[in-house]
Amino acid sequence: MKVLVPVKRVVDAYVKVRVKADGSGVDTANVKMAMNPFDEIAVEEAIRLKERGIATEVVAASIGEAKCVETLRTALAMGADRAIHVVTEAVVQPLGVAKVLRALVEREDPQLVILGKQAIDDDSNQTGQMLAGLLGWPQATFVSRLRIENGEVEAGREVDEGIEILRFRLPAVITVDLRLNEPRYASLPNIMKAKRKPVEETTPEALGVDVSPRLLYTRFEEPPKRKAGVRVASVQELVDRLIHEAKVL
Ligand code: AMP
Repeated sequence: MKVLVPVKRVVDAYVKVRVKADGSGVDTANVKMAMNPFDEIAVEEAIRLKERGIATEVVAASIGEAKCVETLRTALAMGADRAIHVVTEAVVQPLGVAKVLRALVEREDPQLVILGKQAIDDDSNQTGQMLAGLLGWPQATFVSRLRIENGEVEAGREVDEGIEILRFRLPAVITVDLRLNEPRYASLPNIMKAKRKPVEETTPEALGVDVSPRLLYTRFEEPPKRKAGVRVASVQELVDRLIHEAKVL
């Protein structure tokens, strides 16, 4: 079974993002970038499937500018076998990414695509669902437990009432949540080995996909500054303030 793992290059989770002065977007100049944290979990899960003899090959894919190759190298250093870089300078929105991924699925014929549940830059939480829709494949989103046996998938997803268990057959799309696993760090020897693993380059045009944007972002703003808190002397004072000042009780 071949597994395709799409990985996105995003602003590092520990960087405080800043909006550009003209409000046209987020300033990414000279900002530390990293693999989307949910995608690290997706790569880890794919590698574990290979280590358990369930997957035979793990292919990482990234859509974006030239530097996305660094993100692919991270996936290769973690243990992916090879990578595909779909090079474009355009900002590709989730529908465009899903269409590119569909083209890769048609070419590569994986039985499973494991994505992050969302990218922490746009927080869209759309690509996996759109891909499953385009392919007509079953999907499980927000997966925090996964078992695959004889082409049968059992996926646990976190819902308000607890864990919902879904069962379906491959081929399928899965998006992963935080609690699925703890991604490994790439060891130095594996980082060196990853430099020799193949990274194929292609473009949306070569795959026959139109990635032009369908959504127009009108303006980006910093969130309002949080007001300083107040220290209260007693529970009674807290309750009084909640009733009379905040008017939430
Ligand atoms: P989103 O729908 O933008 O929140 O992204 C959900 C998931 O789709 C991410 O965690 C990635 O697995 C995948 N994804 C989104 N954008 C890209 C991209 N440009 N390249 C590769 N994978 C992507």
